[in-house]
Amino acid sequence: MKNFQQDLQQRKQNGLYRQRKILSSPQGREIIINGQRVLNFCSNDYLGLANHPRVKQSFIEAAQQYGVGSGAAHLVNGHTAAHHALEEELADFCGYPRALLFSTGYMANLGVAQSLCTKHDSIIEDKLNHASLLDAANISQARLLRYLHKDYQSLSNKLERCHSGEKLLCSDSVFSMDGDEVDILQMLKQSKKHDALLMIDDAHGFGVLGEQGRGSLNHQQIKASDVSVYMATLGKALGTAGAFVAGSEALIETLIQSARCYIYTTAMPAAIAEATRSSLQLLTTENWRQQSLNENINYFKQLANQSELNLLDSNTAIQPVIIGDAKQAAYISEQLLHKGLHVAAIRPPTVALNTARLRVTLRADHTRDDIEQLVNEISHLINGH
Ligand SMILES: *Cc1c(COP(=O)(O)O)cnc(C)c1O
Repeated sequence: MKNFQQDLQQRKQNGLYRQRKILSSPQGREIIINGQRVLNFCSNDYLGLANHPRVKQSFIEAAQQYGVGSGAAHLVNGHTAAHHALEEELADFCGYPRALLFSTGYMANLGVAQSLCTKHDSIIEDKLNHASLLDAANISQARLLRYLHKDYQSLSNKLERCHSGEKLLCSDSVFSMDGDEVDILQMLKQSKKHDALLMIDDAHGFGVLGEQGRGSLNHQQIKASDVSVYMATLGKALGTAGAFVAGSEALIETLIQSARCYIYTTAMPAAIAEATRSSLQLLTTENWRQQSLNENINYFKQLANQSELNLLDSNTAIQPVIIGDAKQAAYISEQLLHKGLHVAAIRPPTVALNTARLRVTLRADHTRDDIEQLVNEISHLINGH
């Protein structure tokens, strides 16, 4: 067991001590954090649906109909008509025969790997995949092979090294700390060539990318039938909570039979499912939010480039500004908060050493003025002018 007292001290000295801030408002363009009203540049509520009146109304009405707790796991008696309808709508929206709800995205990823892989198999992952995909490989006991970030030659080399067992190839679609996108066609080619099953985690693409927010496959013109396992979360652009896996009839039935973190956990509240159905409805009927988000992303990039901020190659709502030193990143984030701007500092071990960053996330409801203020303050803190 680790000496946790000493470990905490060490974290403080290295500027790696994590602390929670207390929120007393809904998610929105503005939030109240530690009692202070600030502009919000770090939630994943990209479209502002987490506090949308219609989404809340569906939640309230479903709570009246179903109560709050679902009371049991899906396979016992926690699977309501609301859950079932949402699964059908999600499958249809993403172009798959079936979809299955999980209580969180973290659990969905664990469930897939544990359910599909044995210790004789290999899971091949991008070095920058989300922690839940890496943990998923560990829990499955399969052999984990990691290739260099979006390096399809490195990927090919790893795939060639797997001789025995089956192969599961997993990648984020939009990398959560860098905001860049994987080339799904390249992944598809590699998976076909080496006979690997392809899984895409679209947590940051679903709801924002593609036609009506149908996600990264639609955005990159990839047929759903080419990606065997599609996973996306509901707690980000959709503004609710939970996640789903979409795929073939056989895949979904396999998960229902054998994914331990599906079977042995309480179903998400039915009210969350109903609220998500409303979010989905909003996606299909109103696409001005995605347009506005894209305008904000472009405006931020334009201003940040003019101010010579160190951006990464991202076209998504996740726009990291690389600072390097962890303490410096934490300091700048703190100073921004004093100025009424909430931007998270992301430090090792979440990102590689010396790549600590401000992880700016944009929203559909940010104004041009909000973005100007943000870029001005960041460049002032970095460059002193
Ligand atoms: C957020 C995220 C998850 C986890 O989803 P939760 O519903 O928050 O547990 C999984 N994968 C990626 C890429 C994510 O960004």
